[in-house]
Amino acid sequence: MSRFWSPVVRDLTPYVPGEQPKIDNLIKLNTNENPYGPSPKALAAMQAAVGDALRLYPNTESALVQTAVAKYYGISEKAVFVGNGSDEVLGLAFAALLKHEQPLLFPDITYSFYPVYCALFGIDYQTVPLTEDFSIRIEDYNRPCGAVIFPNPNAPTGHLLPLQAVETLLQQHPDQPVIVDEAYIDFGGTSAVPLIEKYPNLLVVQTLSKSRSLAGMRVGLALGSPELIEALVRVKNSFNSYPLDRVAQAAAAAAFEDVAYFEQTCQAVIASREQLTSDLAALGFETIPSAANFIFTRHPRHDAAELAAKLRERAIIVRHFKLPRIDQYLRISIGTPQECDALVAALREIVG
Ligand SMILES: *Cc1c(COP(=O)(O)O)cnc(C)c1O
Repeated sequence: MSRFWSPVVRDLTPYVPGEQPKIDNLIKLNTNENPYGPSPKALAAMQAAVGDALRLYPNTESALVQTAVAKYYGISEKAVFVGNGSDEVLGLAFAALLKHEQPLLFPDITYSFYPVYCALFGIDYQTVPLTEDFSIRIEDYNRPCGAVIFPNPNAPTGHLLPLQAVETLLQQHPDQPVIVDEAYIDFGGTSAVPLIEKYPNLLVVQTLSKSRSLAGMRVGLALGSPELIEALVRVKNSFNSYPLDRVAQAAAAAAFEDVAYFEQTCQAVIASREQLTSDLAALGFETIPSAANFIFTRHPRHDAAELAAKLRERAIIVRHFKLPRIDQYLRISIGTPQECDALVAALREIVG
């Protein structure tokens, strides 16, 4: 606290990212990074982008990325917005689209960044409880509201809302923006992107941090109707016109073009997720069916915080949230098969 601060800063409770500890031989399963490296073609494109041209500003709209993403989804380039990580895209979207008279709605258990943006931008919100089995019941969103946002699959549960239900929700809110945060959609869900042409109220937010292994490059996307994209561009150009540098633009475009590598690594993560879920079931763990690159799991006879601490002693880091309803769960990112095996071996020792 300082007298130099703007008043809004005093009341902020900033988001706390999963830690990036410096421990030798660490098995890092706490922030849902991809265990496989970026596409070799993305790495080559980055190397090629390092040169004299870096003295010039990059393209403001990341046109290379817009083209690659538009081609991948078969949509217009104008429907694609590019930002510095989807956290930035979400921040711009909260400012541009989610502040209204009526409250914003999102699930009670969800990405913990959402209330942080609300505090920063002064957005009134209400949380809508997930059902007992941690699913979103779309009827519960039938109430006066200014907008709706939720991740699909949800975080940190991994639970997927079927596309049909997403579409019904869009129909129930023709006059409100609905944002679907698809950070994990490529690990088993069906994207809502094809619905953007039919529903002008739909904004889909995606990231290259998870399924395209580029968390270190910071690239996020929003896909939606021209009117929603224009709102994002207006806020972007009131804040930072050049959110992506030239190297990141080259990397992101090449990563989207390398469909074969993307599909192969996603399939490997999905196979490991299914194997890990069944190995943990054999140890007595109960895991929520996941469509993401992580699982949300609990053991009926072992405290989650203690399990996390004991894993840590063995240099394995997972995420535990000390929050109502979920404090007996661990969120575990899917690693390589070797990392998953090491996790299972450690848990076998711990739970006996
Ligand atoms: C990881 C994640 C993001 C942020 O991704 P970045 O592009 O790395 O900023 C956004 N939403 C959810 C639900 C996530 O899990």
